[in-house]
Amino acid sequence: MVSRSGTGRSPVPSKCAHSGRSGNSRRPTGGRSLAAGLSVMLGARCWPVPAAGLVVCCGGMIELVSDEGRAAAWMMLGRTDLRVPRLGLGVMVWGDMAAAPRWNPARNAYGPTSSLDEQREALEVSLAAGVNLLDTAAMYGKGASERRVGELTEGNDVLIATKFPAGFFSRAASLPATLEASLARLRRPVVDLYQIHFPSRWMSIATLMNLMADAVEAGKVRAVGVSNYSAAQLRTAHAALSRRGIPLASNQVQYSLLHRQPEPNGVLDTCRELGVTLIAYMPLASGALTGKYTAANRPAGWRRYSSVYRGNGLATLERVNATLRDLAAQHDKTRSQIALRWLVQRHVLAIPGAKTGPQAADNAAALSFVLAESEMDALNTASS
Ligand code: NAP
Repeated sequence: MVSRSGTGRSPVPSKCAHSGRSGNSRRPTGGRSLAAGLSVMLGARCWPVPAAGLVVCCGGMIELVSDEGRAAAWMMLGRTDLRVPRLGLGVMVWGDMAAAPRWNPARNAYGPTSSLDEQREALEVSLAAGVNLLDTAAMYGKGASERRVGELTEGNDVLIATKFPAGFFSRAASLPATLEASLARLRRPVVDLYQIHFPSRWMSIATLMNLMADAVEAGKVRAVGVSNYSAAQLRTAHAALSRRGIPLASNQVQYSLLHRQPEPNGVLDTCRELGVTLIAYMPLASGALTGKYTAANRPAGWRRYSSVYRGNGLATLERVNATLRDLAAQHDKTRSQIALRWLVQRHVLAIPGAKTGPQAADNAAALSFVLAESEMDALNTASS
């Protein structure tokens, strides 16, 4: 494992050979050709270009795309200078859940949790594949997930995203103390991405963003994100942080082939317009897109009651799974990999949950192939 000092950063060359800011095109055709060995200018930094390819600017965000049209394995988070992998690892159900209340989703939504050894293997496999961004939250298992992350990642080269608050009825004023408690459980002095978990009528967005900005200025947080924010709430948060000179890095929302609401509700477009990365949670629809569950063979935990196993939801699941099965066979990949790849090629950052090493390895391989435009269209049609 590499030391933490290198986390998320590339060596910075002394002289930048190219500026990568080439407009607001969302398609590779709007990008700019670069030769290997050169570098792109992003904010105040230069980043080396790993191979010949294009620079794509999406709402001011930078992505590298190879000559084959394949997205590089990493991207910049929003308009920050935090370099992140194109796929993360969701660890909501990791840790010892014994102390968590029975209603806590991390304890009961997904059935039995995996063992410490299985979670360690999932982490090692992910890091080996370059997936070094872990997503957790203070609420998951009443701190159990963060505690497990701290135990497994101490001294490793990982990026940690976590979330405030610790409870549904928390007040904004508890943010500094909650952050300190998270840092203690995570066993590190700084959180790479600190996110507001959900909008709350008890907490004003402007107050929260000011507290976040204070935490950034205090060196305890590197990038600020939100989660489950609507397009309007996203604009409010973005404007409040801008007044402090800090970019809003991300909005984490549910997004998958079975849950495409970020498209009609304007969240995806607003993210692109503001240069905010959309982080897709439940990208495998809680396991439904792996193909291993059906109406007759539902998963363990509360997720078995999901609408995807009933009525119209079931009809869509069966249609999408049939398309995933066909594409998986053509590419010699798994259905999970096709479902995740669809998100990667929509330029969002998916954070699939993995309970074990084999699941983590399976998911990480979504970074290693490309779906053709016609195949993306087939998935769009099946999931509409
Ligand atoms: P998910 O990623 O759609 O599904 C994860 C589940 O699918 C795993 O627990 C596992 O369960 C199964 N699975 C994963 N990879 C697999 C593979 N390759 N092959 C077969 N089965 C596989 O849903 P999620 O875990 O709820 O979401 C991911 C992350 O998003 C969470 O860990 C959390 O960090 C975040 N999240 C955020 C929010 C929020 O409000 N911000 C809400 C929910 C989640 P089984 O093996 O038991 O089937």
